Amino acid sequence: MIHISIEKAAEILKRNGIVAIPTETVYGLAGNALNETAVAKIFAAKERPFFDPLIVHIAEFGELENLAAEIPQNAKLLAEKFWPGPLTLVLPKKERVPDLTTGGLSTVAVRMPKKQITRDLIKLAGFPLAAPSANMFQHLSPTNAEHVAEQLSGRIDGIVDGGVCEIGIESTVVGFENALPVIYRPGAVTYEMIAEISQLDKSVGNASPGMLEKHYSPNTSLCLELPGEVPPNSGLLAFGELPANANGFAKIFNLSQNANPTEAAANLYGMLHKLDSCGLDKIFATLLPETGLGNAINDRLLKARGIA
Ligand code: AMP
Ligand code: MG
Repeated sequence: MIHISIEKAAEILKRNGIVAIPTETVYGLAGNALNETAVAKIFAAKERPFFDPLIVHIAEFGELENLAAEIPQNAKLLAEKFWPGPLTLVLPKKERVPDLTTGGLSTVAVRMPKKQITRDLIKLAGFPLAAPSANMFQHLSPTNAEHVAEQLSGRIDGIVDGGVCEIGIESTVVGFENALPVIYRPGAVTYEMIAEISQLDKSVGNASPGMLEKHYSPNTSLCLELPGEVPPNSGLLAFGELPANANGFAKIFNLSQNANPTEAAANLYGMLHKLDSCGLDKIFATLLPETGLGNAINDRLLKARGIA
């Protein structure tokens, strides 16, 4: 895999190429969000179906007006509070945003990432970047440059190595229904944090086409209930204190020994990648308490398991 500078990446992006880039959430596979050739290459490289829309990344709040036809007051408040950061806002799109980018929807998802190198690159490129996670469709998301290389080598034009992603899970995706925020995908900007700014519409509709039942998945089968008797060649993805039968597992990774959800989020994909490469027959994990970041981690674990 070719590691490149952001200057080189900007050059490639201007020629409608696609490059993997670090963000604080997960690595993204970036291309010019306003150019259909570039966007088509992203879908092709990931083997992602065209109905699954991409998130468009901007470097400054002012760029939002070029993409969104309407910005509700609540969207402004959330952007003010959480941008730059792991929050994606779904808003009515302007015509210049290609239908390919939005999966044919009349809305566009926009985020301003916090990581400085990501925003520097967007500025150098001079256009917003569509950047879904830099993995093959439905597989584990990448939180370092090696994860990207494992899945996308030979499929993309280069990778900017920005180290490990600080947050480690995908952004919170928020849409607006009757002017109230609705969480389509939980993330590091939690329900509780949004509720401090605005009332929420709790009816999570199915307005988000990418929220599939199988997603973020390792190749090894994943079980979300701990076994009484541990089957041979099993792995454990623990959270906090280990279960009494822990020594029956062939391999153990602990998301956070102190049961800290923020640390767990940062470790989630990296540890799943590691467990997945151990040749285990099965991986066991437990769900976290359903508050704050626990919601987002549980959402990813349930999708990583797929339909039980
Ligand atoms: P990712 O693969 O992490 O870039 O995730 C992109 C996800 O954001 C999609 O799979 C959708 O679930 C969500 N999304 C993007 N654009 C829209 C949109 N216009 N409306 C609703 N959800 C969206
Ligand atoms: Mg993804």
